Amino acid sequence: MAMVSKMQADQQDLAALLNRVVQESLQFFAGLEERPVAAQAKTEAVESLPSDGRGGLQALERFQQLYAKKLSASAGPRYLGFVTGGATPASIAGDWLVSVYDQNLSGISDSIAGYVELETIAMLRELFLLPDDFSGAFVSGATMANFVGLAQARQWAARKQGVDVANDGLYQLPPLKIASGAPHSSIYKSLSMLGIGRKSMHLIPCQPNREAIDIAALRAFLEEHRNEPCVVVANAGTVNTVDYDDLAAIARLKSDYAFWLHVDAAFGGFAACSPRFSHLVNGLEHADSITIDAHKWLNVPYDSAMQFTRHKSLQVDVFQNNAAYLGSAIAQPEFAHLTPENSRRFRALPAWFSLQAYGRAGYKEIVESNAEVARLLGEKIAGSDSFELLAPVRLNVVCFSLKRKTRAEESLTMNDITRFLGQLSRDGRVFMTPTNYQGSPAIRAAFSNWRTVGQDVDVIWQALCDSFAEYSREG
Ligand SMILES: *Cc1c(COP(=O)(O)O)cnc(C)c1O
Repeated sequence: MAMVSKMQADQQDLAALLNRVVQESLQFFAGLEERPVAAQAKTEAVESLPSDGRGGLQALERFQQLYAKKLSASAGPRYLGFVTGGATPASIAGDWLVSVYDQNLSGISDSIAGYVELETIAMLRELFLLPDDFSGAFVSGATMANFVGLAQARQWAARKQGVDVANDGLYQLPPLKIASGAPHSSIYKSLSMLGIGRKSMHLIPCQPNREAIDIAALRAFLEEHRNEPCVVVANAGTVNTVDYDDLAAIARLKSDYAFWLHVDAAFGGFAACSPRFSHLVNGLEHADSITIDAHKWLNVPYDSAMQFTRHKSLQVDVFQNNAAYLGSAIAQPEFAHLTPENSRRFRALPAWFSLQAYGRAGYKEIVESNAEVARLLGEKIAGSDSFELLAPVRLNVVCFSLKRKTRAEESLTMNDITRFLGQLSRDGRVFMTPTNYQGSPAIRAAFSNWRTVGQDVDVIWQALCDSFAEYSREG
């Protein structure tokens, strides 16, 4: 009885509860610039399950007391780790309403919400200049989008060998051949989850000093395996240096070789939003399946990504749910038959809000302004005595390292990078993450938040210089 009455009381005073959430949100945003970019994750767990609940307002207050101040500023303008997009104001509004409406997007028949997802996919197709024969659906992130794309590739490749993997499994097949130049780690993870296996990846050499695949080497690989169905994973925006495979050249190989072309364009696909950069994704329209993240450069809250395909029927072969009940003729096989989930949140709504609110011009602006701040930071690094630029700034990531201050034969180690980045995080103004670029320990600064402006580059630069001074003193 007690619990029910607390819920009823909360419901009766819902306006008060939600108004407090508005206040908390506004306070969070007001302090975002000053909030430390990274917070120490340690805490003593103090809360246990209350026998009698506190009610919503008290729960919010308790959370604020215990945790709110310790959250990182990953939503802010100077969190440059990984590829961490921000969230536009309209997308946050849409995301709140996802919880309010609480629709189940497993299908399309009992609510208009399913059509909103289809409409959102259609708007995104326009944004990425993709032809109408691509269908798509929302998934939780680019890892899942890669999984869905490669699941279809697996189904296709096995069919070529007379096997229906969805029903019979991989047991009768020789190892599938996957080829890629500089694949993201989530490709390996997907191969593991799909039973194809991480070792099925054949790394094709990249062009000298690039992360873009060597087309001649790819052709040679396809020639060598011309009697086996191959899957090519092309990369449209690598995480280290935002390098792009020549998608049009890869697509042209299709006239000589039958292969499945999956393009991981998790964040690099957004080059399509700007006439200055759209040449980078020329040929994307020839893919069989495409991954694009929404919680990165679309700047909607986590967790959200899109998978696009031109082989929906293969997708249904893999993901159909409850075939006996649906029979063989699924008229409009939507969501639960297309992606790993069965019940699904109204994930398209934040994207719908943001696309409607800011349109093509808004996304052109985010991409171009992030690219501009990356260029500015790259310039400062290239002209500095302390840092060294490792690759040209092609779009929104600056890949750099520390200049060796010691004797030439002593090379920089990952330990040096970790120590420097630790200092940078303690400084609190900017967050960056380590990487390994062509065998050298390196640092990445990835810009993908609409909040980042030119002035942030000055703050970032000052933080880098101050942290380098501190690091040199220690070392
Ligand atoms: C981020 C990223 C992924 C994985 O995305 P999640 O949304 O974190 O699952 C895959 N590929 C590329 C190129 C990425 O940048």
